[in-house]
Order: sequence, then structure tokens, then C-alpha cells
Amino acid sequence: MGDDKKEFLSLEEVADFLGVTYQLIYRLVRSGELPAVRLGKLYRVSRADLDAYLMRSRAAAGGGTCSVCGTYYKSTSSLKQTCTAEGCGEAICFDCWNRLGVRTCPKHSVKNTKA
Ligand SMILES: [Zn+2]
Ligand SMILES: [Zn+2]
Repeated sequence: MGDDKKEFLSLEEVADFLGVTYQLIYRLVRSGELPAVRLGKLYRVSRADLDAYLMRSRAAAGGGTCSVCGTYYKSTSSLKQTCTAEGCGEAICFDCWNRLGVRTCPKHSVKNTKA
């Protein structure tokens, strides 16, 4: 339909766009975290509000990307570990840290596995 400049998105479209579940978006809307207009039983999220929300949550939660696997996390609670090389501080997700035993970012991972 070439309709990608739509001003308002349904919650399904927002969920789809962000790659999350409808339930999550619904909860964000109900809790007021994500502003939405209610039309009867339907919610619509404006693109501007969505953009603003994403900027806010990124800044507030300080979400980030795991330096090892490249997965983006919306919250730093999954990225508490950092590269153990001195002065590095690259984030490592709990998955890489706990399950794979990674302790350093790719830059410092060269033969540095015994620590
Ligand atoms: Zn990772
Ligand atoms: Zn590092």
C-alpha cells in the first residue's frame, strides 16, 4: 500500500515495528508510558509519540547493545557486566557472560580467556 508515512499506528503495528508482543505495548499504553489516543476500543499511537517514547526509554533505561553478540537490550539490567579489560567498559549481556562465559569484548577477547 506504500503507506509507511502513516501518522498513527495501531498497537499491533507498534508491536510489530518494535518486534515485541502486543501485550507489552498494551501494557505500556495502559500505564501511560507510551502515549496513545483512544478511539472507542482502539488505541492509536502517533509516530511522533512513539519516536519520543523510544528516545526517552533509550536515555532513561540506558539500553544498549551487547558488544559480544550484538543483541540490543532495552534495559541495562541485561547488560550489567562489562569487559574486564582495563579501561574498556564495553557492555556484555548476561547471556554471553553467564552462559558463554565471555568476560571480554571482541576487541579484548584475543587469548584472554583465563581470567
Ligand atoms: Zn551478548
Ligand atoms: Zn574490551
